[in-house]
Amino acid sequence: MNLNSKIYIAGHRGLVGSALVRRLQAKGYHNLVVRTHAELELRDQAAVARFFAEEKPDYVLLAAARVGGIYANNTYPAEFIHDNLVIQSNIIHSAWQNHVQRLLFLGSSCIYPKDAPQPMNEDCLLTGPLEQTNRPYALAKIAGIEMCHSYNRQYGTKYMAAMPTNLYGPNDNYDLNNSHVLPALIRKMHEAKISGAKEVVVWGTGTPKREFLYSEDMADACIYLLEQSEATLSSLFTEEKPPLVNIGCGEDLSIRELAELVAEVVGYPGQLSFDTSKPDGTMRKLMDVSRINALGWKRKVELREGVALSYQDMLSKL
Ligand code: GDP
Repeated sequence: MNLNSKIYIAGHRGLVGSALVRRLQAKGYHNLVVRTHAELELRDQAAVARFFAEEKPDYVLLAAARVGGIYANNTYPAEFIHDNLVIQSNIIHSAWQNHVQRLLFLGSSCIYPKDAPQPMNEDCLLTGPLEQTNRPYALAKIAGIEMCHSYNRQYGTKYMAAMPTNLYGPNDNYDLNNSHVLPALIRKMHEAKISGAKEVVVWGTGTPKREFLYSEDMADACIYLLEQSEATLSSLFTEEKPPLVNIGCGEDLSIRELAELVAEVVGYPGQLSFDTSKPDGTMRKLMDVSRINALGWKRKVELREGVALSYQDMLSKL
């Protein structure tokens, strides 16, 4: 990849996509291709095929997806499986038809089995049953990984799949129902601080543990992977194993600890209560990040600093 390479970022308005655009621009990549949802409907196969034939990008970062937290996944399972299967399939296939040699497909840690040994390494893919709250999404993402692997095997492409842990950062979704836990807590604590409420309700028991990564660190890791030589990445392109890399920080904390940290950063002095009628989801899903670390990448933004940056971003958009 060089600074003139034509790079298509699918999903450039999302959490990861917008971080990718910022980081690529900051590094001097200037030939970026983006389309808004209004300009290009990624679920429309013919439209995607036309777009690729016209633009002929050199590299593709596939960050477009239907995403959401535990409630959204549970409420709209048909949309989660359909939209993701169709979007990724249209893009990966059109990329191959238009001679894109390198593509990075983004997924999530929920592809791994519910009871996977912790920390979860890439080899535990497809070794056991999935968590049921996000199984439709997870299965779509697993199909995307298999597609990358299959195209590499049959057509000699170098398509990779990066699986981030829970991400957060600028342009996150702060909706109280459909968002992930971290932006939801930032918003809830902020509103409670402003209104002087004495209590903030946290979903579930507070005991599940989660790992978090700032979106710009994720973007850096993706660009880092695309910039590596084929020789460096050769272990990812084998017949037997999918071209899969976990991206995370290797540390997690309980939802209760997270809520306490967010309360401190936001400056909310009140109490926390736990609504155990809401689902906990997976009890733990810590990533084994030794593969990406061995390639020479590590996260830079610590959780407290990232939460403060995210809070500032949310305030700037109110
Ligand atoms: P998950 O990582 O796929 O399970 O998705 P989430 O980020 O939505 O939820 C992570 C954990 O945080 C679950 O145990 C939730 O019950 C818990 N949680 C606590 N409060 C909230 C909240 O306000 N919103 C969300 N989405 N999750 C919450």
